Amino acid sequence: MSTKEKRFPLSLSAVVDARQITHKPSQTAVQNVNAVHSLTPSKIKQTHQNAGNVLFTQSVPDGVGMVSDKIRKAMVMRVAQQGVKDEIVLAALDAIPRHLFVDSGLASQAYIDASLPIGHHQTISQPYIVARMTEILRNGRQLQKVLEIGTGCGYQAAVLSLVAKDVYSIERIRALHELAKNNLRPMRIPNIRLHYGDGMLGLPQVAPFDGIILAAAGMEVPPALLEQLAIGGRLIAPVGGRQQVLQLVERVGPREWTSSVLEHCHFVPLHKGVI
Ligand code: SAH
Repeated sequence: MSTKEKRFPLSLSAVVDARQITHKPSQTAVQNVNAVHSLTPSKIKQTHQNAGNVLFTQSVPDGVGMVSDKIRKAMVMRVAQQGVKDEIVLAALDAIPRHLFVDSGLASQAYIDASLPIGHHQTISQPYIVARMTEILRNGRQLQKVLEIGTGCGYQAAVLSLVAKDVYSIERIRALHELAKNNLRPMRIPNIRLHYGDGMLGLPQVAPFDGIILAAAGMEVPPALLEQLAIGGRLIAPVGGRQQVLQLVERVGPREWTSSVLEHCHFVPLHKGVI
C-alpha cells in the first residue's frame, strides 16, 4: 500500500488487522501511545478529546471510518453515565484500544460493557468495573507504584499505565502472561512490568505499593498483599464466592488497616499457585 492510500478515518477491522503486525510496531499507535505517556495528568484531560486520533491516526492500513474511536467514546460515555466521574480515568479508558486485547473474532464486541473470554476460562474485565476500580484506587491522586493481581490479557494494566507512574502486574497462567506481553509489546508502554507468578504472594521485592488492585475474587484479601500496601495506600479487591462485593482496604498505620464494602461485582476466582 502506498502512503497515499493510507486514508483516515480507519475501520475497526483495519485497526484490528494492524494488531497482528507485531513486528512492525510503527504501523500501530505506538508512537502516539508514548505521546500520551509523556503527558502530565492535567494534559491527559486534553488528550481525552483526541485520544482516538492519538492512537490511530498514523500509518494504519486503509480503512473505512473511525469506527473503533467512535464506539470507544460511546463506551466511555456509558461508563460515565454509570457513575465514574474521574476525568483522568475516563481519558485513560478512551485512550486504550480495548479491541486490541481480545481475539480478533470478538473485536466487534470489545466496546460492549461486558467481560469477554480471553481463553483458559478467564475473561477481560468489563470496562465499567475497570474504570470504577481504577477511580477508587486513584481517589483523585497521582499514583506512583501500583500492583495488579491477574494480568489476563493486559487491558487493565494498560489503563493503569496512564494513571500511575509504575505498574506491576502478576499473572499465574503462563499462556495469559505471554498473551499480555504480546498484546502490550506493540504499544511500547514503558511503565508496565509483567510478572509470571502467584499474585497472592505479591511482589515483596518491589513493595510497598500505593495501590493494589485484584482482578480475581478470593474469599478474603491475601494477607501478603495487605503487608505490601504502603501506609496511606489503597487496595481494591473483589471478595466472595458466588456473591461478590468490591472491598476497599486502606492502610492507615504500620499495623492498622480499615476496610469498607462497596458494590456487588462478578469476577473469576483467585487461585493459588501457577500453571
Ligand atoms: N486484568 C484483566 C482481567 C483478567 S481476569 C483485564 O484487564 O481484563 C483475572 C485473571 O486473574 C486471570 O487471568 C487469572 O488467571 C488471574 N489470576 C487468578 N488468580 C491469580 C493469582 N493468584 N495470581 C495471579 N493471577 C491470578
